[in-house]
Amino acid sequence: MKFYIIGQGLAGSMLAYELLELGFDVMVLDDGHSASSSMVAAGMWNPVTFKKLSESWMASTLLSAADKSYTSLEKKLSRKFYHPMELVRIFTGNLAANDWEEKSVHPELISYLTDHQDEAVKEMFHQPFGHGIVAGSGWLDIPTLLHGFRDQLLSQGRYEKRTITAETIEELEEDQDANVVHCIGWKAVYSGLFDWVPVIPNKGEVLTIELPKLGMNRMVNFGNFIVPIGQHKFRFGATYKLNEPDPNPQTETAREMLDDLHKVYPQEVVLLDHKAGYRPTTPDRKPVMGQHPSRKQHWIFNGFGSKGVLIIPFFAKHFAEVLAGQAELNGEVNVQRYWNRTVQSHAALVSSFREDH
Ligand SMILES: Cc1cc2nc3c(=O)[nH]c(=O)nc-3n(C[C@H](O)[C@H](O)[C@H](O)COP(=O)(O)OP(=O)(O)OC[C@H]3O[C@@H](n4cnc5c(N)ncnc54)[C@H](O)[C@@H]3O)c2cc1C
Repeated sequence: MKFYIIGQGLAGSMLAYELLELGFDVMVLDDGHSASSSMVAAGMWNPVTFKKLSESWMASTLLSAADKSYTSLEKKLSRKFYHPMELVRIFTGNLAANDWEEKSVHPELISYLTDHQDEAVKEMFHQPFGHGIVAGSGWLDIPTLLHGFRDQLLSQGRYEKRTITAETIEELEEDQDANVVHCIGWKAVYSGLFDWVPVIPNKGEVLTIELPKLGMNRMVNFGNFIVPIGQHKFRFGATYKLNEPDPNPQTETAREMLDDLHKVYPQEVVLLDHKAGYRPTTPDRKPVMGQHPSRKQHWIFNGFGSKGVLIIPFFAKHFAEVLAGQAELNGEVNVQRYWNRTVQSHAALVSSFREDH
């Protein structure tokens, strides 16, 4: 069986990797990351949701799958991109500090929440309510993974730089034994085949900064986050904005972000770079995958939102097994949930149209 994968972001790359591991013939087509969320992302993962202070969806299963996949891909590509690293959470008030103390003994959180302390944070950050440390977190250098994987695909004749359009889709369909998997991130909105799937672009902006006085080997979250990437450089972000058609980084946003940083880190900050992108989010915050309801050669693998790094490896393996006919698709992520909704709302619209006329 042959698979065309459209889109070489983190989703398309990890799915292609799993399909190749299963021995399938794979061809990856990408427009050169022209609209890539993966190339902009800070790449953090964190098994804890701070809003409710709880374990995030499927965290322990997702963590062990991510660890396995990224470790073995690092070996295969001979590149370093997987960086497990603890995360310091600066408490926003007394309530948050008490909540942490109470919940850190809960069975679901005991392996993640610690009361360890970070000396650099104590000394350099404004943290009147203190902080705690999360284990099981880290960051992925996604561009290094994507470039390494693309080089390997190129050397095997399995990659082509190409923008897929309605016409070129028909060319791929001529190969009747082939399946086409659409992994095009937030651009799904513009894709004729899957534009009924509610992949909602959520704009985010990330800065690269230098903090000359800060030596840290942990990430820090205080609402926003900083991720140490070496030599006193940090990724700092990220903003969230729906319904924002302007894709460019905004100078005003960077200024507001730096003002926020200054409140918790009142030391020297040098701005080095500023990027923006769109996260492919969904209304129920779960990914979407599965087969097109009528064009059976076509499949979607998308909707990884703001947590692609943690979620993608497990579901890439699962979805590859589904495509191979070796597993049933997990109902929580099946694209059918939106197909049914579209059919129902469409039916309701048609019937109300009939009553009116
Ligand atoms: C500012 C920001 C910060 C983020 N931070 C984090 C974070 O810290 N941790 C985390 O887990 N996630 C983070 N994310 C989210 C993360 O980036 C996504 O979950 C993930 O990268 C989605 O991967 P994807 O492969 O689905 O989409 P993409 O990375 O967007 O990949 C889609 C690919 O398809 C290509 N493409 C599109 N249309 C076509 C076409 N017609 N023909 C050919 N190719 C096409 C695109 O150019 C792109 O290369 C962040 C996102 C943003 C924007």
